[in-house]
Amino acid sequence: MSSPLMKSNRILVWFRNDLRLHDNEMLVEAIAKSEAILPVYFFDPRHFDETGFHRSSVLRTKFLLESVADLRRSFQRLGGDLLIIHGLPEDHIAGLVEQYAITEVYHHREVAPAETRVSANVEDRLWKIEVNLKHFIGHTLYNKEDLPFPIKDIPDVFTQFRKKTERDAIVKACFDIPLEINFVSSEEWGSLPSLDELYGSVVPEHDVQAAGLSGGEQEGLKHLDDLLRPDSSIYIKVSARNADPSGYISQLSPWLSLGCLSPRMVYWAVKAAEERFGNNTNFTNLILGLFKRDYFRFMFKKHGAPYLEGTTPVMGKDDALLDASFEQWKKGETGHAQVDGYMKSLAETGYLSNYGRVLAATFLVHVLKYDWMKGAAHFEEHLVDYTAASNWGNWKCIADSVSGLKSKNGFDVDKYLKILNIPAVA
Ligand SMILES: Cc1cc2nc3c(=O)[nH]c(=O)nc-3n(C[C@H](O)[C@H](O)[C@H](O)COP(=O)(O)OP(=O)(O)OC[C@H]3O[C@@H](n4cnc5c(N)ncnc54)[C@H](O)[C@@H]3O)c2cc1C
Repeated sequence: MSSPLMKSNRILVWFRNDLRLHDNEMLVEAIAKSEAILPVYFFDPRHFDETGFHRSSVLRTKFLLESVADLRRSFQRLGGDLLIIHGLPEDHIAGLVEQYAITEVYHHREVAPAETRVSANVEDRLWKIEVNLKHFIGHTLYNKEDLPFPIKDIPDVFTQFRKKTERDAIVKACFDIPLEINFVSSEEWGSLPSLDELYGSVVPEHDVQAAGLSGGEQEGLKHLDDLLRPDSSIYIKVSARNADPSGYISQLSPWLSLGCLSPRMVYWAVKAAEERFGNNTNFTNLILGLFKRDYFRFMFKKHGAPYLEGTTPVMGKDDALLDASFEQWKKGETGHAQVDGYMKSLAETGYLSNYGRVLAATFLVHVLKYDWMKGAAHFEEHLVDYTAASNWGNWKCIADSVSGLKSKNGFDVDKYLKILNIPAVA
């Protein structure tokens, strides 16, 4: 008789935005329930295609390559490897299942439409060969089943979501890093593609690191460790024009977005630092940021794709003129010094403080009156920390807010127009 824990399985562990060994429930369960695992990462051509909507900038791709290389090294230290494939997951997973006699496939569920479409396609292919795709949730501070309300009743107003969740739910402990793993054996683990291979053309030499940071779990852990020291000097490492007036930039977002750091691990590390060194505004802001991250993700979970609907692009009469202003905005040539500084920083480093993102987005939507979705797509390409729910959710809040009214996550358009020294819009 087979018991759920009987080890007769070979599990394919499909890594996506969860490039870490620590606090990885999917990996821990795969190891516990199998005789051997096959960890796999796909470089999906849709992210690098010239015509692709979901194109990733070279800076983000470099950060991704470093992160995948780091995960591979972690598996190699444990006597195994990471299978690397340059291709569509839905074209390859069923073939791998047959080739390696896989009995089940595990992955972390995503929330945004483009990502869920990929896993739905994979699930369809696997269904035809009667293999299960098991979904895990590992991107948030709170698991959805631990929230004090069902998904459909999650408050749409951020402060209500945070207060109730903080009061009535607990952040679970992290899963331990696996110390031993049995790997499926393979003759060929695949090589890490070069930038030229990914983009299908010669990519000009890029000496610049994304925001001066390197990808991967080890780098992320080191950054977090440095950040939480009482004498930490890495809070404002970016150029003055990118500096947040609050004087605080943790820059954890690129590692959080690829899952090199788990939000739960960051949370517990901050709590431990608070206990040791006492609380401070940096720690409070960091935790607040993690709540915002969860909030946008749960908004996508609650509303699905329609979450982004209902905000009509604010376009004026002369589309050609507007398109020209959009191009100037992208290049940092609007004539507004602050906005231009931020847009140039985005192109050069792939990073902007929250303050910079808010001002640049407010300017596009409420001053240039351009389609916010095009602005969000531009950020999607260039942000090293691009996360579908956080990017599109924040943009939507800015676009939804009208003069004299605050949006649901507290965004106040008048306040930001005042900072930009621009009269409030009627
Ligand atoms: C128009 C716009 C687009 C954005 N696009 C993204 C995106 O693609 N990816 C992304 O991670 N964040 C996005 N944000 C949110 C926020 O600006 C960044 O998370 C933050 O600037 C990252 O810097 P940090 O790590 O120093 O943040 P900290 O202030 O140190 O916060 C800690 C962490 O909390 C999370 N966080 C903080 N603020 C927010 C927020 N408003 N919404 C969601 N999560 C938050 C991030 O994971 C961040 O790393 C966007 C904000 C705006 C206004």
